[in-house]
Amino acid sequence: MTTVFIATGNAHKVEEIRAVLGSPERIFLSQCDAPVRLEPEETGSTFRDNARIKSLTWATYLAMEVCNLGVQWVLADDSGLEVDALDGAPGVHSARFAALDTGRPGNSSDAENNAKLLRLMAGALPERRTARFRCALALTPVLAGTEPSAMAAATRDFDGVCEGRLLDRPSGAGGFGYDPLFVPQGFDRPFAELGTDVKNRLSHRARALEALLGWWNR
Ligand code: IMP
Repeated sequence: MTTVFIATGNAHKVEEIRAVLGSPERIFLSQCDAPVRLEPEETGSTFRDNARIKSLTWATYLAMEVCNLGVQWVLADDSGLEVDALDGAPGVHSARFAALDTGRPGNSSDAENNAKLLRLMAGALPERRTARFRCALALTPVLAGTEPSAMAAATRDFDGVCEGRLLDRPSGAGGFGYDPLFVPQGFDRPFAELGTDVKNRLSHRARALEALLGWWNR
């Protein structure tokens, strides 16, 4: 049995990760199973940096805890949307895109972020509406009695990208974040309408998780 701690409080991400990595040999825990709330500041300039900040914060904590829930690996996801017409924004600021304008701390609601994106993209022609979701995963072994630097050195990174385009109005009730606006390449409906099976086959997160599984199975 391998116990993996998913370093996120986002229930949608946990569900998507379990759907792809689920196996009778793996137990998954997430932040809601932990007795503490650790909220490391995501100060990195790339998705990879931020995924590593999250996985190392939790791995360092779990490696020191006597009661560490038997966790052997910490898996962190950092992800977001890059819009070509906005020079790659919102990018690493995807979760707090709307709050960037007000200076308000913390993340914005999905509705606020989507409203800002629609405002910035108003009137953009179809060929200017290209975008992609990007996901970086960091997988860190929990090594009791070692320095955080040793766990950092042993951390593995996996990336996934999903190309697509943006609608000019939201549609669908599934998924989270920008899913009501994002139509993956090869489809004519957004992730929020396509359902979990489709999303878990071709999303940025699914692709990064497939890369991780490939490494794990080797
Ligand atoms: P994070 O939790 O700091 O990685 O922020 C991720 C943000 O990117 C989320 O709050 C969403 O706004 C957006 N995002 C990431 N993955 C997805 C996805 O699969 N669908 C829709 N939005 C996503």
